[in-house]
Amino acid sequence: MTSKISRRAFLKGSITAAGSVAATTTIARAAKSIAKEDQEPLVTLIDISKCIGCEECVYACQMVNADKYPDPEKPFPAMFPKRVPVQDWSDKTDVVDRLTPYNWLFIQTAMVTIDGEETELTIPRRCMHCDNPPCVKLCPWGAAKQEDNGLSRIDSDLCLGGSKCKSVCPWHIPERQTGSGIYLDILPSLAGNGNMHKCDRCYNRLEKGDQPACIEVCPEDVQTIGPRSEILKQAHALAKETNGYIYGEHENGGTNTIYVSPVPFDQLNKSIEKGKGKPHFKKVDDMMAQGTNIAKAMVIAPIAGIAAAFGKFYLSSKEGK
Ligand code: SF4
Ligand code: SF4
Ligand code: SF4
Repeated sequence: MTSKISRRAFLKGSITAAGSVAATTTIARAAKSIAKEDQEPLVTLIDISKCIGCEECVYACQMVNADKYPDPEKPFPAMFPKRVPVQDWSDKTDVVDRLTPYNWLFIQTAMVTIDGEETELTIPRRCMHCDNPPCVKLCPWGAAKQEDNGLSRIDSDLCLGGSKCKSVCPWHIPERQTGSGIYLDILPSLAGNGNMHKCDRCYNRLEKGDQPACIEVCPEDVQTIGPRSEILKQAHALAKETNGYIYGEHENGGTNTIYVSPVPFDQLNKSIEKGKGKPHFKKVDDMMAQGTNIAKAMVIAPIAGIAAAFGKFYLSSKEGK
């Protein structure tokens, strides 16, 4: 525990120092204009071959986002319907080998053969920030939203924890914490018994012109963030130079996260541990191109807008009390 605290203290220093430099870059300026309508989406390139698996990004993410994590009320009310499982991570906040409501980024490992040699690859995994995110388009409560710079995030104050975002996400990224969120006040026995959490691309750091913490702290410069056209150009150049492979450009209709790997992604997918909180690397069709999802999104959009407005009104009136 002591080592984690001192490590975090170190990270805090390094993030602050790096932030002052990064804020002057073109990329940081692009990041700052979070609400500019005509901007290109911000895309991240992740060069898997550079990652050494040190997990500094993981702890940096936890440190800068700690105040967004759920703080559940216990004991939990009875689940309704009863089949809804209790998902309580509040006593397991030190779990870093998978995604949880308290860990939005983890390092996946894969044993692969490169040039005849067994090699371990380490891969940062988090939300892909899809171009056309089903988690946003199909959230019935308007709690998930997409910014003009392409990032998607879940407003945990508005989320009712029904887990729709997780079930429609091709990688099942969002994670639920029971016993937290607005449902405790307005729908204690009707909604999802908690709220959902995932990487929000450090939207509040981007707003200030700072880079996401996981990018800034990485000692190996594994990730690069910038406008889509620039990053795609870089990704293709890197893949060509290294005979590498690309993931994320076309998956789910395109995402704002582009991985470049020295081995094919079906090989990586076979080797990684997959399952709860551990996303796959399979090919993914465009979820929102499916007729049923287009129709659902059209029905949900106005209802979600009303639900979000009601939620915001409720929260502001509660604060005013
Ligand atoms: S992405 Fe960077 S900080 Fe994260 S584990 Fe890899 S090398 Fe370390
Ligand atoms: S990866 Fe999943 S959670 Fe992330 S934006 Fe896409 S659909 Fe949403
Ligand atoms: S972008 Fe921010 S929230 Fe997302 S994984 Fe990186 S540090 Fe965590």
